[in-house]
Amino acid sequence: MTIMANIEEAGFRPAARIASVGVSKILQIGAKAAAMKREGLPVIILGAGEPDFDTPDHIKEAAKAAIDAGETKYTALDGTPQLKQAISAKFRRENGLDYAVDEVTVATGAKQILFNAFMATIDPGDEVIIPTPYWTSYSDIVEVCGGTSVLVPCDAQSGFRLQAEQLEKAITPKTRWVLLNSPSNPSGAAYSAKDYQPLIDVLLAHPHVWLMVDDMYEHIIYDGFTFVTPVALEPRLKSRALTINGVSKAYAMTGWRIGYAGGPKALIKAMAVIQSQATSCPSSVSQAAAVAALNGPQAFLKDRQDSFKRRRDLVVGRLNAIEGLECRTPEGAFYTYASCAGVLDKVTPKGQKITTDADFTDYLLEEAHVAVVPGSAFGLSPFFRISYATSEAELVEALDRVEKACAALQG
Ligand code: PLP
Repeated sequence: MTIMANIEEAGFRPAARIASVGVSKILQIGAKAAAMKREGLPVIILGAGEPDFDTPDHIKEAAKAAIDAGETKYTALDGTPQLKQAISAKFRRENGLDYAVDEVTVATGAKQILFNAFMATIDPGDEVIIPTPYWTSYSDIVEVCGGTSVLVPCDAQSGFRLQAEQLEKAITPKTRWVLLNSPSNPSGAAYSAKDYQPLIDVLLAHPHVWLMVDDMYEHIIYDGFTFVTPVALEPRLKSRALTINGVSKAYAMTGWRIGYAGGPKALIKAMAVIQSQATSCPSSVSQAAAVAALNGPQAFLKDRQDSFKRRRDLVVGRLNAIEGLECRTPEGAFYTYASCAGVLDKVTPKGQKITTDADFTDYLLEEAHVAVVPGSAFGLSPFFRISYATSEAELVEALDRVEKACAALQG
């Protein structure tokens, strides 16, 4: 269902620019699961896109100190000098990237970074190449900004990673951006230097195409995987790349709403123009907290990574033991993206045939009271996403129920 249909029911005339934007399937499932919970049903929701950890104390303390020091006013438009310094230092320290403070921008979450960047660069008809499965906001933001999303399916065989031939084929004279996300929401797949290189080679041959990379899950990686970001691998891309990151996932700060990016000065300035008419600046208190996150101790990230890894192994192991399901081991993030091809065409105990991944996830919600998100919400079927950012006890209970529900299918 589109937002348009919803709003028209309420008697409004919505703007044409939101006509093609869907109400997130994730939100729809979340709302249904929450309603079932209110009715007293024991629903387990494995849909959350945020860590279940708390924001570390030293970050909270920095925010309290900022309030007490009167840092409660508008700040510089696209980030305080202190935060831009901290980001510039982070890029150098962790990524080997050389972004000066005037090549850095801060916004109200990485989501606003994406919005600012597309608003500032896309004209009607401009194309943005997005590999799927993808975080659905990407294409929705592109469409709201008047662009055209060019979705390129990347299957499990290729590790859900875009291949050079696919990129080459998708590029047209109208291509403005290609958008890569590693580790990925929803697949957890990540690109190594070796995976990136052929894509970089294609980009070097097409100078009109800009590269946007979303490194949001950089700190949630497993099994000694080495995180890399393309501009560090190929500095010639720096003049036409935007490297996006944020504090939401690494530091469990989703509610503080701070995202940031490094890019060429002209783009950063254009993004600030959009921000100046949208939010004026990110929250002053949250920016002080983000300074503490980036400049403060980083050791706890490893403990959190270990905890996520245990849960990843638990979920992947259990899913692969269930007949009809198949799950590749993700390199990062806190999601699994399992195939449910093996349960399609089976029939539920109530006699309903499962023909799509959405049928399967509806069945899991209604009969097993487990809320997960179908691959159709992320542009690649038949799969379903589990977010394992929840307790191991809850994961075990949820997987017991999924196993039982799958065993009850006939045919
Ligand atoms: N990028 C990806 C891949 C995400 O999954 C999310 C949030 O779910 C974001 C960006 C947005 O993060 P923020 O909280 O900074 O807006």
